[in-house]
Amino acid sequence: MSCASGCCARGSAARRASEAVPSFQQQLKTVERWQRFPARERGDAPGRAVLTFDDGPDPDVTPALLDALEAEGVRATFFLLGEQMMRVPSLAGEIRRRGHEVALHGYEHVEHDQLWPGQTRDDLARGLGTLQASTGISPRWYRPPYGLLSEASFKACSDLGFEPVYWSAWGCDWETVSAERIAELVERDLAEGEIVLLHDSARYAPREDATPTVEAIPLIAARARERGIALVTLSEAVGER
Ligand SMILES: [Zn+2]
Repeated sequence: MSCASGCCARGSAARRASEAVPSFQQQLKTVERWQRFPARERGDAPGRAVLTFDDGPDPDVTPALLDALEAEGVRATFFLLGEQMMRVPSLAGEIRRRGHEVALHGYEHVEHDQLWPGQTRDDLARGLGTLQASTGISPRWYRPPYGLLSEASFKACSDLGFEPVYWSAWGCDWETVSAERIAELVERDLAEGEIVLLHDSARYAPREDATPTVEAIPLIAARARERGIALVTLSEAVGER
């Protein structure tokens, strides 16, 4: 199966067309998992919401996204993959230097149900090591691929000092949709406390190009300003430890 919650679908071209939209049973699985393995779904700081970007860093998209965020005065949280960081080691540090928060999405983009417990822990630990080597920091947050934790990865989060994170809004930007559609979906739920799921790479998604997410940023930022909502990093939206 692919993304039970729709966060992003497996990169196999053969599966792409049929799995772009999560089925109802996949949605039910996500609800069941989120109840079994509770994680942060919302922020709690007044007047703030969070844009989060999964699956990068990606040299094709992330630099343009950083420019778009800077132009709008928006800070965000990036859930990075170890194997993506290995391709362009400098990009994770660049994200941090530009004022954003870095967090972990794992080393590989694999659903945890497909791994043995030891493999799950190894994936988190390897991802953590890569992120530390790239940025010099140990991130606070972890978001599992497809938004699905297993018993083993829930425990590994705790053992490695991560706070797990899901989301409360999304732009369906794993699919081939326009910037306007992404912004419209995000804006529908854009309110204080929301954690918005977006993606700065198409590598693990059905769509071929993640550029529409970059083009949606000015639209989303304008709507946030209209509503008096500051778009900040996840740690800024929940207070410091
Ligand atoms: Zn992902």
